[in-house]
Amino acid sequence: MNTAEIDKKRCKACGLCADACPKKIITINPYAESAYGRGCAEVSDGCVGCGTCAVVCPDIAITLRSV
Ligand code: SF4
Ligand code: SF4
Repeated sequence: MNTAEIDKKRCKACGLCADACPKKIITINPYAESAYGRGCAEVSDGCVGCGTCAVVCPDIAITLRSV
């Protein structure tokens, strides 16, 4: 089983991953620190490891980690 992890140093909070996630468990936290200083994506419980978010991320900020 895999779960998605966000690299806060790469995320620009564009929201593409949140729109694409079939489980709708990715949200954009506007207060979270990131390299760009304007929010960051966050993954909640329930990830099924499908990888859709990682495919659509234009900044390669999402990786799948085995759990
Ligand atoms: S698609 Fe990538 S850059 Fe955009 S919010 Fe998601 S993780 Fe961040
Ligand atoms: S791997 Fe799939 S279920 Fe998990 S956060 Fe990404 S799009 Fe959503």
